Amino acid sequence: MQRRHYEPEHEAFGEAFRAFVDKEMVPHYLEWERAGIMPREVFAEAGRSGFLGVSIPEEYGGGGVSDFRFNQILAEQIASAGVTGAGLGITLHNDTCQPYFTSFCTDEQKQRWLPGIASGELITAIAMTEPGAGSDLAGIRTTAKRDGDSYIVNGSKTFITNGINADLVVAAVRTDQGSADDRRGGISLIIIERGMDGFERGRNLDKLGLHSQDTAELVFTDVRVPVENLLGAEGAGFAQLTQKLPQERMSIAVNAVAEARGAFDETLRYVQDRKAFGKTIASFQNTKYELAEIVTEIDVAQAFVDQCIDRLNEGELSVSDAAKAKWWCTELQGRVIDKCLQLHGGYGYMTEYAISRRYADARVTRIYGGTTEIMKGVVSKSLGL
Ligand SMILES: Cc1cc2nc3c(=O)[nH]c(=O)nc-3n(C[C@H](O)[C@H](O)[C@H](O)COP(=O)(O)OP(=O)(O)OC[C@H]3O[C@@H](n4cnc5c(N)ncnc54)[C@H](O)[C@@H]3O)c2cc1C
Repeated sequence: MQRRHYEPEHEAFGEAFRAFVDKEMVPHYLEWERAGIMPREVFAEAGRSGFLGVSIPEEYGGGGVSDFRFNQILAEQIASAGVTGAGLGITLHNDTCQPYFTSFCTDEQKQRWLPGIASGELITAIAMTEPGAGSDLAGIRTTAKRDGDSYIVNGSKTFITNGINADLVVAAVRTDQGSADDRRGGISLIIIERGMDGFERGRNLDKLGLHSQDTAELVFTDVRVPVENLLGAEGAGFAQLTQKLPQERMSIAVNAVAEARGAFDETLRYVQDRKAFGKTIASFQNTKYELAEIVTEIDVAQAFVDQCIDRLNEGELSVSDAAKAKWWCTELQGRVIDKCLQLHGGYGYMTEYAISRRYADARVTRIYGGTTEIMKGVVSKSLGL
């Protein structure tokens, strides 16, 4: 279905970014997949070319535009080019981390951090999950105890995207223990910076997919963090996360539909080329019906996602609509890519074919950013259940 979602300036931005991806990312992608990380310089190059910090005000070196369609078209180009593992670092930096800085920084903090975030010199990560607390965010145990003009931070985080590359980590910490009635109370957000004493990176974790993405454990041992690094008010962390998680979930939903479409496009080409029983795979009725179903599912999901992005831009996207988009689109991604791999036969299982990487990369989207089960919990809550 012809989309009417983008204006010419979005399309032009997307084309310019695609040229960047084809030149700076595609040729090196398999090397990064083997290395388990994308070099930091790629962020700086993306920043120089204007692809980071679209929503950061111009006075701090950003694009000064508050329109998530620019983020969306970047994610779509990453998926279409088949470099999602590496591209996730960029989308996390742009879509998920930046809003915490643009919304909650004081003027002094903005001056300190926003120019580097826009230029890609400062790479960002967000650290909520701990070994003992993932879905249950209120269960986090990392503490930040006030000591004079500092907080002393102790604890550990796990599964942190950009964990190795990050310079600024938005960390969810406990500034007080909360209470049995209010487990969410006492959570605060604090920026932990590269080079602070006691801040160690653990392993770059071995994963099923997303191999070029550095996902790491972070360990904090008596890290002295100046109070000037507190983001927003003490104890406001849970509310800040609740406010920003819908955009993170839309970022994941956008990527999921774009990955499904990327897989569909590749499969459509493949089945018209590959032959069995003297005919193309495309000529079998099963193939036609499978591809007809897939393209229908993608177009329907795209319509909902685009509408959610319009609502997000208007400041009216509800937590439950973002949750619907997240679980539905990521489940769809899994279904579609599985079917597309099947249509590739044995070649689909070979890592040299992009579809096999898409298959492995897809599995986590139903888990991170809130699992499908947690998303359904959010939706059912909106029904008063
Ligand atoms: C590659 C990768 C990157 C990640 N990046 C980041 C990051 O950058 N920052 C960050 O903070 N975190 C990150 N995460 C963590 C991710 O958000 C969590 O893994 C996720 O929220 C699930 O938490 P968990 O792993 O502790 O699973 P658990 O919470 O232990 O859940 C296990 C199972 O129980 C189910 N379950 C739990 N509670 C309920 C319930 N109430 N009702 C029904 N079912 C339930 C879950 O749905 C799941 O199926 C990342 C994870 C991965 C794998």
